[in-house]
Amino acid sequence: MIQYKSSEEIELIRESSLLVGKTLAEVAKHIRPGVTTLELDKIAEEFINDHQAYPAFKGYGGFPNSLCISPNEVVVHGIPNNTPLKDGDVLSVDCGVLKNGFYGDSAYTFEVGEVSEEKKALLRVTKECLLKGIEQAVAGLRIGDIAYAVQEHAEKHGYGIVKELVGHGVGKQLHEKPEVPNYGKRGTGLKMTEGLVIAIEPMINLGKAAIWQDNDGWTIRTKDAKVSAHFEHTVAIKKGKADVLSSFKEIEEVLNNKKD
Ligand code: MG
Ligand code: MG
Repeated sequence: MIQYKSSEEIELIRESSLLVGKTLAEVAKHIRPGVTTLELDKIAEEFINDHQAYPAFKGYGGFPNSLCISPNEVVVHGIPNNTPLKDGDVLSVDCGVLKNGFYGDSAYTFEVGEVSEEKKALLRVTKECLLKGIEQAVAGLRIGDIAYAVQEHAEKHGYGIVKELVGHGVGKQLHEKPEVPNYGKRGTGLKMTEGLVIAIEPMINLGKAAIWQDNDGWTIRTKDAKVSAHFEHTVAIKKGKADVLSSFKEIEEVLNNKKD
């Protein structure tokens, strides 16, 4: 069953989602060659706890950490570890928080040091896929319209689209109905109405679409070992234009300051 949200509930999801963006911005300040993903995880956990919230992923299905951190060929659900980041890595950081009984969920893929043009293009197009999906996330359209928009843009660039993992409803649960796939047909699936809150999260591979799961039970990797990117926003469905509840603003301010 789909849990539709009141406007008061949407404001609580916004508060959680904005905290996710601020947490990712805090993490972004520390992303550089030599830092470990476990160090980044600790920074996020402390930041979330300092804001009277709970890291949503910690303990979720037994997940051991606060962030899913997925370098290079890891698509999603990477477990933070003691391996130092290297110049030229790309790093997907996925964060969820629970505050006031409601979840927020967002992810961003970062460049570590100097990254190849090929990888930069993948990151840019994957973020564009998310924005094109969000353009379709309006009352009266269908989930398939989001899915098609993401797929169309990724395939235009010759990238592989991960199909086994999908976006989802967000609310009192981290993962609610409906599923929001990143491939599909226009005009199919659930008709969206106001009160629906979903996470849209394209996972796009530089090479082929095929993935496999590590025997740690979590880590998802590309079969061809080429890099993968992942961007995610939590959005509320409205008439005319989606209300994006999470934000990349603080993250991108940090990234722009790093360039100066
Ligand atoms: Mg997420
Ligand atoms: Mg999600």
